[in-house]
Amino acid sequence: MRERRYVVRRILKPSAELIWFSRLDPQEKRLVRDAIDRRECAQAPYSHYHVGAAVIGRGTVFVGCNVERASYSQTTHAEQGAIDSLVATYGPTPIDAIAVAGAPAGCPWRLDEMEREPSSSPDWDEAVSGAAFPCGQCRQIIWENANGNRDLPVLCAVQRTGWVIRTTIGTLFPYPFGPDDLGLKIFR
Ligand SMILES: [Zn+2]
Repeated sequence: MRERRYVVRRILKPSAELIWFSRLDPQEKRLVRDAIDRRECAQAPYSHYHVGAAVIGRGTVFVGCNVERASYSQTTHAEQGAIDSLVATYGPTPIDAIAVAGAPAGCPWRLDEMEREPSSSPDWDEAVSGAAFPCGQCRQIIWENANGNRDLPVLCAVQRTGWVIRTTIGTLFPYPFGPDDLGLKIFR
């Protein structure tokens, strides 16, 4: 039988690293801090899982949190809320980075301790299990406003610690479907 060869459409360059909060650059710190703060606003009486998100677009930060409804399917996710706020302000606009912080209600994050140096060494497996990554639906939503930038930073705060997983939308969503596939450019 003849061997079939498949062409990989894009070369994947997965990337993810664990960084302590105080070592992030000022813009990334602002996004992570805003995402953590915004969890406080979550309306999550069903899941009791609070998520905050912050995006930057046109140099301005917009925030969102999860908002649940009794019908469940009408729940708004934090990432979507943040991106939709940006669009409601400026119209269709690409984002430059996004931060997400998710954890059960009441989970403490100590921003003052995060500004200091870490007291423990990083543990990748622990960090991955303590971080809330954007869900599948939100990866699509982030991609739609990434303007084709597979390297768009996605910062996921690890609950109860100052560790942050810095990855990219291309890593989280390696074979996306988006406006390009329909021959569209939605940003000027
Ligand atoms: Zn989501």
